[in-house]
Amino acid sequence: MLPSTPYGAGVREIKTPMVLVIDSCEGMLVRNPNDTAEWGIFYNGKASPERRRFTIAHELGHFILHRGQRQSFNCDKESVYSGIDTIRVIEREADDFASNLLMPGDLLREWISNQRIDLHVLSAMAKRFQVSFEALCIRFIKFTPQRAILVYWDNGYAKYEWRSSSAVKTRARIRRNGDPAEPLPGTLAADASIDQEWDGTEMSAAIWCPEEAQHMKLREFKHSYGARDRILTLLLLESAEPRSWDRSWKDEDSFDSFDQFISSGQHAVR
Ligand SMILES: [Zn+2]
Repeated sequence: MLPSTPYGAGVREIKTPMVLVIDSCEGMLVRNPNDTAEWGIFYNGKASPERRRFTIAHELGHFILHRGQRQSFNCDKESVYSGIDTIRVIEREADDFASNLLMPGDLLREWISNQRIDLHVLSAMAKRFQVSFEALCIRFIKFTPQRAILVYWDNGYAKYEWRSSSAVKTRARIRRNGDPAEPLPGTLAADASIDQEWDGTEMSAAIWCPEEAQHMKLREFKHSYGARDRILTLLLLESAEPRSWDRSWKDEDSFDSFDQFISSGQHAVR
């Protein structure tokens, strides 16, 4: 239906999504070179139904947000984390678009505001929205008013870390013991004898985040994916007052374009 709306100006048709014949990527959005008013979406037919749904929604994101910039988009799950900056930015935007489309904010708010969050609740929500558990957890982190941190471990090393906006504002930060970081001693993430902890275990927040006050508590959750040595850690922290701006440039998440503007200004002065 998009071509008949302002979001599809100049486009006559988006073909029904088709399975990719090649294995090189997760999904594609392509303009027909012989008919520029026609676009097509392709997806990896070997992916799970949840992943396919997300991929198609992601390609729709490129269609709406980026089709003026390029004639084709070859999408790989990895390019969100690696790849050159401009690609990473548009890949993240398309991912955000897909999350918002598949997990609408009003429905999400209804679910998370009426119950205590644990991995059982998040897993049920993932099933309801027909998205992967990981996609749901990332959406939850970006959406929740709670202080929350999500870490994805791949073969014993942190691959990515997301923090909720209130976690960023209150400067809740995980101690890094290397680059990439490994799970910290005393945490469930580091305990090889525990595969799953869906109910959460309460502990001192300082075990994870050394800058947290001593009385602060958090609940740590753990989900392991079979034998593939991939682990999701969710931390739900007690609420805290936002900390005042301390002009620390070390905090990657707060190093946004405004910070860059300010720091490049300082360079200019020097
Ligand atoms: Zn993409």
